[in-house]
Amino acid sequence: MKIKNYINGEYVNPISNNWIENYNPSIGEVYGQLPDSNSQDVEIAYKAAETAFQSWSETTLDERSQILSKIAKLIIEKLPELAMAEAKDNGKPIHVAKSIDIPRASANFQFFANAITQFASEAHESVGQNAINFTLRQPIGVVGCISPWNLPLYLFTWKIAPAIAAGNCVVAKPSEITPMTAYLLGEILTEAGLPKGVLNIIHGLGTTTGQAIVEHPNIKAISFTGGTKTGVHIAKVAAPMFKKLSLELGGKNPAIIFSDCDYNEMLQTTVRSSFANQGQICLCGSRIFVEASIYQKFKTDFIAAVCKLKVGSPFNNNTDIGALVSKTHLNKVKSYVDNAEQYGGKVVFGGNLVAVESSENGYYLEPTIIEVNDNSCILNQEEIFGPVVTIMPFNEESEVLAMANDVSYGLSATLWTNDLKRTMRVSKQLDAGIVWVNTWLLRDLRTPFGGMKNSGVGREGGLEALRFFTEPKNICIKYN
Ligand code: NDP
Repeated sequence: MKIKNYINGEYVNPISNNWIENYNPSIGEVYGQLPDSNSQDVEIAYKAAETAFQSWSETTLDERSQILSKIAKLIIEKLPELAMAEAKDNGKPIHVAKSIDIPRASANFQFFANAITQFASEAHESVGQNAINFTLRQPIGVVGCISPWNLPLYLFTWKIAPAIAAGNCVVAKPSEITPMTAYLLGEILTEAGLPKGVLNIIHGLGTTTGQAIVEHPNIKAISFTGGTKTGVHIAKVAAPMFKKLSLELGGKNPAIIFSDCDYNEMLQTTVRSSFANQGQICLCGSRIFVEASIYQKFKTDFIAAVCKLKVGSPFNNNTDIGALVSKTHLNKVKSYVDNAEQYGGKVVFGGNLVAVESSENGYYLEPTIIEVNDNSCILNQEEIFGPVVTIMPFNEESEVLAMANDVSYGLSATLWTNDLKRTMRVSKQLDAGIVWVNTWLLRDLRTPFGGMKNSGVGREGGLEALRFFTEPKNICIKYN
């Protein structure tokens, strides 16, 4: 199986004819190849995008909206095939790909198909000066979108849909680790009638293909989701060219549980917020703080609930936890578990590799719970990004708030309480771009999405994404 680049509406080989192996993490075997694209491929994609820009940016909003809706519809029509590809490429349970990843990829296109028809700009009358100002929101031109491997099509489309809805043309790169669904998207774009060159999908390594997109002097904006270290690097490369940047980076999110919460609902949701997608979601609650009065009960019940999670092949419908995305990532996650004691933690559940029947070489790890007693330990400070959480008791609201914020990240937080005043007090003081109260990962696509501190710069989602992908221009008209 050979994946190809999608440039100017055609599937093409990389110029160098160099290829990278693509792994199926559920069995630990190579099952295909993808282009090892370089800056020449990026240049060809850029040229196609540049050529398409004028016409696409002048396409009526209705036309753009209809094409985006058609893409959304086709994604749903091809859901079984796309879900299978996502599970095979990423290791996630196929029922998760079917119920979450692929429907959300479709929803991303449908949401921005609607949003672009409602996107308005401001007008300011300069009273007493006989002048009116209004803001034009113009597409930027050619923009770059770079996405990670954890939610491959879901996050890829989260960037692309608003970019093209706003009238830009795109050079996009999915993660080299999970290229398959982005590849399949090419056919859908063609079938939906997206004009050639509007969206170009280039495969390859971050350090070559991704780097070439970021370095390209005429790609004026970069929307990037990935690790904080990569985000720092991209910011450094982009800054001298004054590129517009949206960086959605890592997280080390607190889940704060007060004793007055709805206990059963909290317990069920906390299992999900800890281990959904093998814990490989930037929004997972990986530091669990529990009020001391219910800590022992929580610990017992949480372990009992996690114990029931089934680790297994992504293709079994009763699998809760599939394979981690790659051998390298598995080793990284496992090293935190293996060093837990040295880092001041105690593994109270899990921690072992799992040999899944008929898939013994797959990258499986038990869901793992580590008890810690100091928030400053490495386990509570570094993003592990796997099926590993820490638990720790607290006594006072002020104490847990200080611990929740005492980390370099600030992406999301989850709060469990029925006390309205506390909800407001704590939510306002948390360093987080998103606070979920008595729920987790309940997403409304109209809301701003992104993080504070080392979790990123800027917001995507809703009109924020359309603002990012447009250049505001103030026009001032004097009328006397
Ligand atoms: P990486 O930062 O390694 O990679 C993200 C993307 O950037 C990939 O496509 C990668 O390519 C590419 N890339 C790598 N180096 C460069 C470079 N020098 N220039 C341009 N592009 C580059 O992250 P992961 O893929 O490992 O994803 C996991 C991370 O993403 C976690 O830290 C997670 O928290 C974060 N994340 C953040 C989210 C948010 O919304 N805040 C949501 C989801 C994940 P390649 O893989 O091909 O090398």
